[in-house]
Amino acid sequence: MPFKTLKKTYSTCKKCPELCTTRIQVVFGSGNPNADVLFIGEAPGANEDKNGVPFCGVSGKILEELLQSINLSREDIFITNTILCRPPNNRNPSKEEVNNCRERLDQVLAIMKPKVIVTIGNFATKRIINKTEIKKIRGQIFHYGDFKVIPVVHPAAYLYSGRNPMMMQQMKDDFSVIAENINV
Ligand code: URA
Repeated sequence: MPFKTLKKTYSTCKKCPELCTTRIQVVFGSGNPNADVLFIGEAPGANEDKNGVPFCGVSGKILEELLQSINLSREDIFITNTILCRPPNNRNPSKEEVNNCRERLDQVLAIMKPKVIVTIGNFATKRIINKTEIKKIRGQIFHYGDFKVIPVVHPAAYLYSGRNPMMMQQMKDDFSVIAENINV
């Protein structure tokens, strides 16, 4: 199935009884569907729900800075989330909601066939490699089927740290691991 068709199919998704009534729109993803790298975040927030673009708030600015550190821009990657619809009041996605969006994410992977999947934060990491404790496993290489997976800390955790410079350095180190694995 072409990428555009997939996007259209999910634009009216009603698998999650609550989210399909509280969302403004389904935030399918943005960037280049032919990219070598797919970034997966947690869920759209208020800005994303309004604009229809993942990571378009403060976390997105940090993500852009990290991409820039390895000479990439948003146009060089594709970004989506573990679930496509904003949970009300930014609550955590439920297990059912992650499951309802499971097939969709696998379909994105099957079409894109990226060289590297980057899971941003605990939710995406749990969904793809069933691991938690992102701070212990960040920057390491795992596998999901034939795909390489590199978990990274969520920019929101960096913001929560009060923009700890040591944490930024660690994130940049992890992004250089991403760069090394795209360019092989
Ligand atoms: N945080 C996420 O995990 N995803 C977004 O799209 C925005 C913020």
